[in-house]
Amino acid sequence: MKYISTRGQAPELSFEDAMLTGLARDGGLYLPDEIPTLSKTEIAALSGLSYEETAFAIMRPYIGETFTDTEFKELIAKAYAGFGHAARAPLVQLGSGHFLLELFHGPTLAFKDFAMQIIGQMFQAALERSGKRITIVGATSGDTGSAAIEAFRGLSNVDVFILYPHGRVSEVQRRQMTTPSESNVHALAMTGDFDDCQARVKDMFNDFDFRDGVSLAGVNSINWGRVLAQVVYYFSSAVSLGAPHRQVSFTVPTGNFGDIFAGYIAKRMGLPIERLVVATNQNDILHRCLSTAEYRPDGVTPSISPSMDIQVSSNFERALFEAYARDAAPVAQLMDELKQSGFSVSQGALQALRESYDSGNCSESETSKTITRTLAETGELLCPHSAIGVKVAEEHLAADTPMITLATAHPAKFPDAVEAATGIRPPLPPRMSDLFEREERVTRVENDLAAIQTLIKERIAH
Ligand SMILES: *Cc1c(COP(=O)(O)O)cnc(C)c1O
Repeated sequence: MKYISTRGQAPELSFEDAMLTGLARDGGLYLPDEIPTLSKTEIAALSGLSYEETAFAIMRPYIGETFTDTEFKELIAKAYAGFGHAARAPLVQLGSGHFLLELFHGPTLAFKDFAMQIIGQMFQAALERSGKRITIVGATSGDTGSAAIEAFRGLSNVDVFILYPHGRVSEVQRRQMTTPSESNVHALAMTGDFDDCQARVKDMFNDFDFRDGVSLAGVNSINWGRVLAQVVYYFSSAVSLGAPHRQVSFTVPTGNFGDIFAGYIAKRMGLPIERLVVATNQNDILHRCLSTAEYRPDGVTPSISPSMDIQVSSNFERALFEAYARDAAPVAQLMDELKQSGFSVSQGALQALRESYDSGNCSESETSKTITRTLAETGELLCPHSAIGVKVAEEHLAADTPMITLATAHPAKFPDAVEAATGIRPPLPPRMSDLFEREERVTRVENDLAAIQTLIKERIAH
């Protein structure tokens, strides 16, 4: 299987190279040249499999010759061994026809672990084979950074630099990034918001001298390997509710559009998904774009769901590429316009997007109310991101199709917002209960590309 760029000007790559590269050299994002499908019989056969066995069945067609079956099974086993729940992604019922998929039992308590843990294993195996050394640079609104650091800490052939917006992540998120003591981990607190961090990382990838000089690799949610790993739990949860013999819908708390795009891939692979609902917080550019065709960033307003405080939603480019029937030229054009004031999607593409996605938004007060009400009605303590999903899902419930809402983080990752809504301060799981005693190590940086590049070069020289 070959991987192609959404902007049509970068070389086609194998799975291994697309994964190690992250962003394509033309600024685009990699996608498989064709999406494999599973027959109804093959999907039915997933019923009763372990999460790991399902992961192997779903991901195997995409990885080509990169790993043998035996190797790949071992990597999957290691990736999910550190999860705090035997089911990995357990499904609980919230109400009639409404289910919650708990994706927060991984080592850093957010769904990002599902992808980052397997990516970490795959990177390590590929690098050991080639003897190469790489520098991972990522931007985070909080959860990607902690998941990446957890996945790569202590590896001998990788340095990992994470840029996060100073003062705009929760204390648990920050501590998960700043307390690992391994010398290959570098947490950088940057002045600005997440979009600024993401923009500087993109600049580094577009500076080819720097990119090649430090062997830059990306693990942001644009990395195809991450999207692929997230396809798995759409299958495991839908099958447990009766797919392929029954349709299901999903609602996904959305920021960078990686998680919901994985749902779209699951649908294209043959999973009978009726609706995919994009749930946004008050930074609702995706909801506005799907409603009006206009995609015009107007600055991020910090919220109690910081991992969704995003206006430049990078994986949306993949959705646009599909909506424009895989024609790279208009996508490249829109992405150029985005550097100015934004863009408007053509009528044809908007119609295609609406065939695939519904959307809704949720204000700060509605988020808190949903946390309070869900606890009272079901006993489930939601994090603010998951609460946004639940609220928007409730507006899209249909009588005959079960709705699965993705719970993207553990409530203990956002204890202030949860306590304000319920009076309960959710405790961290025992395995990380000493997080607040551990020593922090962080470097403050300005929003200055050259200064950040110099710092990275100095650090990896040692
Ligand atoms: C990253 C994140 C999201 C948004 O996911 P995307 O793939 O960026 O759309 C939502 N909730 C939480 C808790 C997250 O960490």
